[in-house]
Amino acid sequence: MDTTELTSPARPECDLSIVVPLYNEEESLPELMAWIDKVLTGRKYEVVFVDDGSTDGSWQAVQGLKQQFPDHVRGISFARNQGKSAALHSGFKVVRGKVVITMDADLQDSPDEVPELERKVVEEGFDVVSGWKKKRHDPITKTVPTKLYNWATRRVSGIHLHDFNCGLKAYRREVVQAVEVNGEMHRYIPVLAKQAGFSKIGEQVVQHQARKYGTTKFGLERFVNGFLDLLTIAFIGRFGHKPMHLFGVLGTLMFLGGFGLFAGIGGYKLWAMYEGASARNIADISAFHIALAFMVMGLQLFLAGFVAELITRNAPSRNVYLLKDQI
Ligand code: UDP
Ligand code: MG
Repeated sequence: MDTTELTSPARPECDLSIVVPLYNEEESLPELMAWIDKVLTGRKYEVVFVDDGSTDGSWQAVQGLKQQFPDHVRGISFARNQGKSAALHSGFKVVRGKVVITMDADLQDSPDEVPELERKVVEEGFDVVSGWKKKRHDPITKTVPTKLYNWATRRVSGIHLHDFNCGLKAYRREVVQAVEVNGEMHRYIPVLAKQAGFSKIGEQVVQHQARKYGTTKFGLERFVNGFLDLLTIAFIGRFGHKPMHLFGVLGTLMFLGGFGLFAGIGGYKLWAMYEGASARNIADISAFHIALAFMVMGLQLFLAGFVAELITRNAPSRNVYLLKDQI
């Protein structure tokens, strides 16, 4: 077995793929799979369990489910914990369904929602349908910052979703093949989809349960990381292909500001000398140091822009565009 290559057995595509990222969720898995199978009896579907380096018996549980549901269960197991985004990314690489649904493993998301989510993609033509946990069963330390986070994401992205980070979402397969989910970007897949060119993004109110087994895998640092990622995504969306348009402008303004100040001080010195006054040494004037700092920082920003341009010009995705049509 190649230990990094993901494989997808050559079988005809199916209607529906459910991708379940999981990290130490052994108790939930049998119940989750039984529930999914009950909802989808008789359908052509697959569930791709991505074991994100669990240290409990989760992978054994997935292997057991493979025995029990050989036609429907597939699994990937990471050698170590890589994060939910990495797990989703790898699941997305191997899916064969026309519609792809993501769902958390902890039974907080209800498989009963799957048919309606799928219908919205197939019949109403949505590219992305995000679940909206309108009535949440989570502690207040999570629900309050989440409101702020969703508001900020709406402002930055222009996408009107109430609940960006809902684990339960449905996609057209083309969407999950087009977006790169890495780092902790799983919180922003609708934003990444929009940036790639998928514009029909909707939402559906979904049931949400309290966690039945185990504990949450994300601490309070999720909010700090979430906001940093939001800044990144806003930057990439606007300047990812033309970083010089940000750094160049900032750098030039700073440099010119510094240079202007410098020229002013020089002029003042000449004038003072002409007037015969005892002009101070130019380096004794505090504005001189400010001018110098502005010029140096301006130059550095400018150079950062150049380096960023060189990097984006060599990025493998630099000229990949989503097409609407071709005749
Ligand atoms: N998860 C994962 N890798 C991680 C952390 C979490 O695959 O490093 C999975 C986890 O097992 C669950 C889903 O991501 O299926 C959501 O995690 P969790 O329920 O802990 O998040 P919360 O519901 O508290 O936001
Ligand atoms: Mg959860």
